[in-house]
Amino acid sequence: MAAARLAAPVKNETEEDLNPFRIAMRQFDTAADRCNLDPGLREVLRRPRRALSLSLPVKMDDGSIRVFEGFRVQHNSARGPCKGGIRYHPGVTFDEVKALASWMTWKCATVNIPFGGAKGGIVCDPHSLSHGELERLTRRYAYEIMPIIGPDKDIPAPDVYTDSQTMAWIMDTYSMAQGSNAPGVVTGKPTFLGGSFGRSEATARGCLFCVRAACAEMGLSLPRTTVAIQGFGNAGSIAAQLLAEQGARIIAVSDSQGGIFNPAGLDTVKLLEHKQKNGTVNEFPGAKSIPSEAVLAIECDILIPAALENQITLGNVDMVKARIVAEAANGPTTPGADITLHKKGVMVIPDVLANAGGVTVSYFEWVQDLQELFWDEEDVNRRLERVMVKAFSDVLANAKKHDAPMRTGAYILAIERVAKALVVRGIWP
Ligand code: NAD
Repeated sequence: MAAARLAAPVKNETEEDLNPFRIAMRQFDTAADRCNLDPGLREVLRRPRRALSLSLPVKMDDGSIRVFEGFRVQHNSARGPCKGGIRYHPGVTFDEVKALASWMTWKCATVNIPFGGAKGGIVCDPHSLSHGELERLTRRYAYEIMPIIGPDKDIPAPDVYTDSQTMAWIMDTYSMAQGSNAPGVVTGKPTFLGGSFGRSEATARGCLFCVRAACAEMGLSLPRTTVAIQGFGNAGSIAAQLLAEQGARIIAVSDSQGGIFNPAGLDTVKLLEHKQKNGTVNEFPGAKSIPSEAVLAIECDILIPAALENQITLGNVDMVKARIVAEAANGPTTPGADITLHKKGVMVIPDVLANAGGVTVSYFEWVQDLQELFWDEEDVNRRLERVMVKAFSDVLANAKKHDAPMRTGAYILAIERVAKALVVRGIWP
């Protein structure tokens, strides 16, 4: 089953290659061509260092046994312990996890935090599992990846359809096996278990800092902008709140079940309550229902893809009307669509920058856990702003210097940082 999924050429109607890992390597190659890298070193940076594929047997509530497929991939650890989320989704593949792991390496280097890149995933539909089944699946997964994770080795975090509860189970499983409390083994924990204030808002807040800087660069006034958001989970829903608080008008949002549109602006506080109550943004009073994918084509200033990969493709890129695309999601734009957007003068704030607020506050959480000294939310947000503002300006300057899109600017910066660490450390033995 997995082998078939990996081998199948994934193409869309425009014959684009949608395999996430090949896309990640293509993005790397585009930037690496402009870096003066030793060919052997370049090969080291392209490949994952370690990739674990797992079979996870779980006793289901009805007494039957089901075997789930799981992965943990560590892409690079030259600059520090590996870091990256865990995704629960029916569409997870090994190649997707490899791509997400490599994007974590470049993300951590782009914002200059001392981590390498990793990612994990389980092929499952968490919405069809009971609380008990999810706990047993999570603990079995944590047990199986235990030899390669740890506060100094690899530190997981939440991603699509995982949350602070998932992290608490992993932390507990690891701590039980070690015989001592190890809060630093995961980030994104509840605050009362060593989590950081500001972590759940961090991805969206980092995105907001990038959007604010992009508006200044594009001559837009943020409080006068209109915004469309695809995906209304952790990243998307909080981005909607924070941008609305700045005066921006959120005119369209979508989730996996559909989209809604109101040109006069959506009340994001009421929308969040509606989503929490009904499990979807659909049928929000006062808004018009639209197909989920129509959100990408809405006439707006800022488009925030905050769901999954390969959403803006050669097949629909011509319909994108936004002036700024802020990639809260990982990998939402295909390389072909990226080129088209750049030619159209759209500023794409790449995922490795736009959603790096999450891993930045995860880094703060890890630091707080290790020193057992906790900061208040204001302190966390102030530090996050400093990191994001500096990273945005470094990436923009690099993009201008190389006359390249922001993604290539970010990758060149990141590749040079990781390559420097690798060269000075040397290749062992
Ligand atoms: P989440 O599980 O909280 O939310 C995912 C949202 O996407 C849900 O609202 C779901 O309904 C929606 N969705 C799924 N398929 C969709 C589709 N086809 N069309 C429209 N909406 C769809 O996940 P999240 O943590 O918000 O992650 C979203 C994206 O942000 C992912 O790409 C993730 O890797 C990235 N990201 C998240 C974090 C974080 O800290 N949570 C950090 C960095 C990057």
